[in-house]
Amino acid sequence: MDGVSPVLRSFSEQLTAETFIDDGVETVTSLASVANKADESVSDCFKITFSLPTLLRDQHYQYLKKGLRHLSDAYECLDASRPWLCFWILHSLELLEEPVPATVASDVCQFLARCQSPTGGFAGGPGQYAHLAPTYAAVNALCIIGTEEAYSVIDREKLLDFLWSLKQPDGSFMMHVGGEVDVRSAYCAASVASLTNILTPKLFEDTTNWILRCQNWEGGLSGVPGLEAHGGYTFCGTAALVILGNEHMLDLKALLRWVVSRQMRFEGGFQGRCNKLVDGCYSFWQAGVLPLLHRALFKEGESELSRNQWMFEQKALQEYILLCCQNPTGGLLDKPGKSRDFYHTCYCLSGLAVAQHFGNLDHHQEIILGKEENRLAPTHPVYNICPEKVAGALEHFLKLPIPDDSRHVGGFTGIKPPAAAAAPPLP
Ligand SMILES: [Zn+2]
Repeated sequence: MDGVSPVLRSFSEQLTAETFIDDGVETVTSLASVANKADESVSDCFKITFSLPTLLRDQHYQYLKKGLRHLSDAYECLDASRPWLCFWILHSLELLEEPVPATVASDVCQFLARCQSPTGGFAGGPGQYAHLAPTYAAVNALCIIGTEEAYSVIDREKLLDFLWSLKQPDGSFMMHVGGEVDVRSAYCAASVASLTNILTPKLFEDTTNWILRCQNWEGGLSGVPGLEAHGGYTFCGTAALVILGNEHMLDLKALLRWVVSRQMRFEGGFQGRCNKLVDGCYSFWQAGVLPLLHRALFKEGESELSRNQWMFEQKALQEYILLCCQNPTGGLLDKPGKSRDFYHTCYCLSGLAVAQHFGNLDHHQEIILGKEENRLAPTHPVYNICPEKVAGALEHFLKLPIPDDSRHVGGFTGIKPPAAAAAPPLP
């Protein structure tokens, strides 16, 4: 038992009392919990740990490096999400502080240029229709690369036209022309517009009100008004409001209560919705809301805020990710028994970074579970790329004029320019 940290939560005798209890009411999820033996396999992972939790850096690096050049047949179903694969892999590598060779970065730029639609925005692959999700992924990937070549790929005027083509009269956005509306699109639009300096008040007229309608009685946000609160949508809606400078208009205390209640008492990781199973990717979608909330409550003058930790169990989340979500040959996953993939690798590592770093560039405190080598680079809580990459993109694009959107219809609402683009101030 050499090297076992006395503070490891998973060795606590009382922890088994925190496993999932269905109160005698069977649901699809409680049956799945039994069928998957989710709790049992998590406890197995906790039990077989005889040393400090270790991030399998080299294994993850090899897995990611290979994925940038070659994907197995299993990824055929993601043919319409290819910029996402670029983002997931590049962001994972920057968190691991593994540089990408210049030639590889240039190849990625050229590939993403081929995904850009002649009518603006990026598609899931060359020759496909533009869509907001791969547009977000492509812009983030290009900002991570952060070279002149990368920035110059983005046609900002046409990107603005594309965003206008998706805007709805009620303030929401479609994901693609003729496509569905949900709060992901508001975030993707606000994220790419603020990073590339094409955000105009007219473009986001009424968007704040539409997002606010997605916060429901639970406290979290749903995909569209009136549905169940969900971790991914909650992050998207909250981060979009931060970009628009209007997060204070949410019921922040209700949101805080909902999101902290999603951290699982036994596993330490987060679930996506009430009564669902733990999943590694919510390490970012849920825990990533806490830095946004901390900043929002600080701006509201909340006096009880901690100056050295977020309002969730940061070490418990690190324990879940490091003990239960790593494939021994590289890559991270949803929960024990599931396969690795680049999506979960990106969002488990992003969540791990949130759990390791408190504060921002000015006020920063690290809480690293295990060895110092487990430390990842911090991630920007609004854009989920490293903070210096956000700064680099802003420095580049703020020098360029905002394209004229007077030809588009709409009125002026007086929304401030993207305040959130800078690192959020904290106590
Ligand atoms: Zn997941």
